[in-house]
Amino acid sequence: MRRSIVALVGLVAAQSLGAQQTVDLLVRGGTVVDGTGSAARTADIGIKGDRIVFVGDAATSKTTGTRTIDATGFIVAPGFIDPHSHTAGDLSSATQSRRANVAYLMQGVTTVISNNDGGGSVDIGQTLAAWTKQGIGTNGALFIGHGSVRGKVMGAAGALPTAAQLAAMRAIVVKAMDEGAIGMSTGLYYAPGSFSKTDEVIMLAKIVAQKGGIYDTHMRDESSYTIGLIGSVHETVRIAREAKIPVHISHIKALGVDVWGKADSVIRIVRAARAAGLDVTANQYPYTASGTGVSAALLPRWVEEGGNEAMRKRLVDPELHDQIVTEMTNNMRRRGGAASLLMTSTRVPGILGKNLDQIAKERNADPIITAIDIILKGGSSVASFNMNENDIRTFMVQDWVATGSDGSDGHPRKYGTFPKLLHQYVYTDHVLTIEQAIRRSSAMPAAMLRIKDRGLIANGMFADLIVFDPKTVTDRSTYREPELLATGMKFVLVNGTVAIDDGKFSGAMAGRALKR
Ligand SMILES: [Zn+2]
Repeated sequence: MRRSIVALVGLVAAQSLGAQQTVDLLVRGGTVVDGTGSAARTADIGIKGDRIVFVGDAATSKTTGTRTIDATGFIVAPGFIDPHSHTAGDLSSATQSRRANVAYLMQGVTTVISNNDGGGSVDIGQTLAAWTKQGIGTNGALFIGHGSVRGKVMGAAGALPTAAQLAAMRAIVVKAMDEGAIGMSTGLYYAPGSFSKTDEVIMLAKIVAQKGGIYDTHMRDESSYTIGLIGSVHETVRIAREAKIPVHISHIKALGVDVWGKADSVIRIVRAARAAGLDVTANQYPYTASGTGVSAALLPRWVEEGGNEAMRKRLVDPELHDQIVTEMTNNMRRRGGAASLLMTSTRVPGILGKNLDQIAKERNADPIITAIDIILKGGSSVASFNMNENDIRTFMVQDWVATGSDGSDGHPRKYGTFPKLLHQYVYTDHVLTIEQAIRRSSAMPAAMLRIKDRGLIANGMFADLIVFDPKTVTDRSTYREPELLATGMKFVLVNGTVAIDDGKFSGAMAGRALKR
């Protein structure tokens, strides 16, 4: 009773003063780039609980904050949404510092999507529940990975599924979607996804479409390995059309000398599909090197059929030796030669930080024989320098291309993608305006992935918010030192809680497991 009288008195007092309000957190005086793409403007932002409740002039509307952050001279933007990360392992880790996902918070990323490339656990509900229970530093959402589904039902078999196997795959996808997956990802370049025909993907994608999910793909061929880059874009568009599903091309690129300059052709196909009413979009990371494994980069897929043991047998089979070497030599040429493959994360001693050419020379051996030896000894992650800056920039300025890190261990993109986009492509080279760069890193991926109530600064949205210094925002991670944290993020709010406070991780585990 007493409480309600106090509340009533407070309300009357507020009304007589004209909509005076106190918010939990007031971000004052910053240059707001709200994610819509509209011009930057000076505004104050009020937050109550986990939501934005005020955008405007705090002084004239008499809004005060329990805590106030002075954002004068800084940019205030929606927290970034990364449509392609490999963070499920981090977020599920028993180690709190890994679950905190600081590598991403320091880039201004507040939501990460994982299980791309067709991979990850098929136990979506279990994974999301564990995140909620243990606590995570950023928000996280999951795809159901087609390669994992196929692997669970068929192992590494190169065959087409029987009717019973297909039914088993459908059941796993249905369950995953019902447990909150935002869609299905494929890695049609990688085994075992590579063994599937387009029809199999369409059949599964139809279920995903019915559940309101999207289709995300690492396409079958980003280069000239099999059906080619152009053939792969056509395959992706066919899946969109026949499964009636929004499709999202991950890390769009022209991989290797054979397809350099083909960005224009890819763009023409996507534009035509979009003009025909299909929802075709993409994401991109701003690096000239991709990140993969020695085996994925160089081995023909038939060598991997049947799994690890079968692969090892083939690699030491004298009857197959010449054919394997010939095909690997061509794959290495595609990617720019032995010197363009840098070993970034490996248990094989003595090769980390060296390129394949250097390692071969040290051993006085042929690079392909050296690569086979590395694979047999457990393999290595590689940074594969295979992209052309012109293609990167051509894709970058398309209004259907978002930012996505594809962050993986050993590649600087895991720690640097978003600040690199700001520092290099906005403030140094002026390829994008700040409004465009923010939009393609927030509202655009939110819309593409159907992430609700995030990615914009507006009343009622979740308070995922970043405050950064445009003068100092930059990546520091390099191919030699891929785990250097980015600089320039002053404050990062996740669901209204301050996770990066004056440039430092606050210890808050304010992320949420997001369900479709
Ligand atoms: Zn990929």
